[in-house]
Amino acid sequence: MTCLRSGALVWYRTDLRLSDNAAVTAAAAASDGRVVGLVVLPEHVAAPVRLERGRAEQHTTLPDFVRVSPRRIGHLLQAVDELRHDWQAKGSALFVARGNAAHCVAALASELGVAEVHTAPCRASDEERENAAAARALAEHGIALVVHDETTMIAASDLPFSVDDLPDVFSNFRRIVEKKCRVREPVREPVLAAMPTDLCSRATEDTDRVLACADFHEARAAAVSQDARMAFTCVGGRSHGLARVQRWFWETDCIARYKQTRDGLIGADFSSRLSPWLALGTLSPREVAAEIRRYERERTANESTYWLFFELLWRDYFHFWVRHARDRAFKANGVLGRTPCGAQDERGFAAWCEGRTGEPFVDASMRELRATGQLSNRARQNVASWLAKTAGIDWRWGAAWFESQLIDFDVGPNWGNWQYVAGVGNDPRNRVFDVQSQANRYDANGAYRALWVRD
Ligand SMILES: Cc1cc2nc3c(=O)[nH]c(=O)nc-3n(C[C@H](O)[C@H](O)[C@H](O)COP(=O)(O)OP(=O)(O)OC[C@H]3O[C@@H](n4cnc5c(N)ncnc54)[C@H](O)[C@@H]3O)c2cc1C
Repeated sequence: MTCLRSGALVWYRTDLRLSDNAAVTAAAAASDGRVVGLVVLPEHVAAPVRLERGRAEQHTTLPDFVRVSPRRIGHLLQAVDELRHDWQAKGSALFVARGNAAHCVAALASELGVAEVHTAPCRASDEERENAAAARALAEHGIALVVHDETTMIAASDLPFSVDDLPDVFSNFRRIVEKKCRVREPVREPVLAAMPTDLCSRATEDTDRVLACADFHEARAAAVSQDARMAFTCVGGRSHGLARVQRWFWETDCIARYKQTRDGLIGADFSSRLSPWLALGTLSPREVAAEIRRYERERTANESTYWLFFELLWRDYFHFWVRHARDRAFKANGVLGRTPCGAQDERGFAAWCEGRTGEPFVDASMRELRATGQLSNRARQNVASWLAKTAGIDWRWGAAWFESQLIDFDVGPNWGNWQYVAGVGNDPRNRVFDVQSQANRYDANGAYRALWVRD
């Protein structure tokens, strides 16, 4: 294969796009656009759950429980398909490999002979360990790993404090950030040089072989399987995320009513539904923020348009939080070091996962999650509170089940919200949700419970 000496490699993580991507922009600038991309897919679709990420000895033995569901892998594959097409349309190439990330990155980078590898992961502890392993493997070939901050709307470097000094409470973070930070404009995709034909053919052959794995076929089928009760269909590729923005902002003006609708349980449009694309980075939060600003200029600015921005700040907060908390993000006693209830009740937990607790609002939500990989924020808060505080079961089991099932799984928002609801994280009020009164309030006519709990 042609050598890419003085070229660069982009190692994709949860930033699966060409535009507004710090790693792609920097790699192109450092190499006159002589860049190729790499996505490393998980080796095992059915990898075991780890209660404390990064610690092999903490594998659970819970049945029917894998770290990433085939449906979530299927969404990832949909996103990768489109990304690959985007690189090919530029005359360059996206390699897709499978296995140990550090090994795959170092093997391709050294074979290509590139000078630098650029990457922009969410900075949670597993991802940091992966960075360190890749940096070591690359150093053996004299190649540098350049790590960028990319996953948030507000750049870490624009914060008026270091991530180590992140405020303990979200509202303090929000007040400071709203006063002192601005959201940068999204950066357009850089010009990339066309790559030699033999290199592109090699990328096509390698990638076709990886994507042809039998378990990926199963994952793709899981991602397109439809439950008749599902109101919203999500396809992982970027064009589908952009189409969702177009529809929810511009065609239906749902954004202008969001503050009133956001606690909905049934339907496609009560909230933006942008989380699966934000989680894989096929859309960037800056792109969504720019679209909010444009909508406010061209149509209307009201408390609903502000509230979408406010939720993106929550997302930022948890991305910074998981970096700040490091391994404490995944520990039973959380960042506060409080003693959680934490019962290791396997039967009770299985009943929760399967929607058989006997509490109809919880059961409806858990059945929706299992059948679709989706769940509203209101339902997530209730089922999490019920598991951790009412049933007193180890909250990390719940977080791991969400990690496995949710198509929008995002490490900071998931583990941070779980700690918050379980009372070991950053909620100064340590609330307990009264599930029955929540059901009466948000599902007053029982339609949601009737939809998902039939027997
Ligand atoms: C226990 C629990 C686990 C969760 N796990 C995840 C997860 O793995 N991935 C994830 O993206 N969100 C998670 N959330 C947050 C929230 O429920 C989802 O972001 C939201 O339901 C996604 O739907 P939407 O895109 O329509 O959101 P909208 O209401 O339209 O909000 C717009 C965007 O803001 C962000 N956002 C909204 N609420 C939150 C929040 N509470 N915390 C952080 N970001 C937020 C999301 O990126 C979302 O797409 C979790 C919440 C709880 C209570």
